[in-house]
Amino acid sequence: MEAHSFRASHRRFGCFALVALALAIPQAAHSAQFRTTNFVIHAPTPALAREVGEVAERWRKKLSTEWLGKEMPAWSRPCPIRADIAPHLGAGGVTTFVFDRGEVFDWNMQVTGSRERVLDSVLPHEITHTIFACHFRQPLPRWADEGACTTVEHASEIAKQEHLLIRFLKTGKGIPFGKLFAMKEYPPEVLPLYAQGHSLTRFLIGQHGQAAFLDFLGDGMRDENWRRAVREHYGHESLFSLQNSWLDWVKEGRPVLAGEKQPGVVLASAELPAAPITVRGQSPAENTNYESAYSRANRSRGGVIRR
Ligand SMILES: [Zn+2]
Repeated sequence: MEAHSFRASHRRFGCFALVALALAIPQAAHSAQFRTTNFVIHAPTPALAREVGEVAERWRKKLSTEWLGKEMPAWSRPCPIRADIAPHLGAGGVTTFVFDRGEVFDWNMQVTGSRERVLDSVLPHEITHTIFACHFRQPLPRWADEGACTTVEHASEIAKQEHLLIRFLKTGKGIPFGKLFAMKEYPPEVLPLYAQGHSLTRFLIGQHGQAAFLDFLGDGMRDENWRRAVREHYGHESLFSLQNSWLDWVKEGRPVLAGEKQPGVVLASAELPAAPITVRGQSPAENTNYESAYSRANRSRGGVIRR
């Protein structure tokens, strides 16, 4: 496709994926192909290709209506989906696309996992990435992109994020909001970004709903002044104030919030995070020491790839 002749303005974005994992998986035969309005599916069997295509169309319609208030118009070219589906495969996905002069095109999606998780978690996650790309036509902050896409997964996948979050916060892997909001690329260790992004997204959607969350992101991206955007949209004077309010909510076991349509996992009392549960830099003064500690910590750890 023409997009492969990248110019400087061309840059491929998308869900950080399981590139390494996908390469490690023996390539299943994708002998079957099925075409829907917006997708061309390559899968191991005709039945799976058809099912993935039909479910993908349903998710596209449902999720775009939920997030944007209306169904997205059909794409001018279908998005190819390569589906590796087998019971033993871990759930994951990759979606890449190109932004160029305010347009988004050259979709490419890979989904991997058991049939159930591909249909109920990987497809909605990856399709939400495409909805955001079409809506914003620019890359979102990573925490918000991955965080929001994770909120539409199956409860079992969400539960993994919720439990990982507590582990990360207890072991000093929490990401200060000043750093989190500035991240445009994936950090070497991505799982804390996913877990924290998911939780923070759920916390913000819980205040005023999904549409208000997208308004907040669009407004913040205009000038990258997230302190201003957080103050105007959510009433917190600073990112630190938001961070500590979110941490208090996590410490309380993440009670269901008014704006949530699909509550996440509420921790049982036995799981409630007793101290310490921290994010470095819970005050502006503390935050100044953060960079070096974070960089050192991450240099010593290998990256873990999810999606
Ligand atoms: Zn993703």
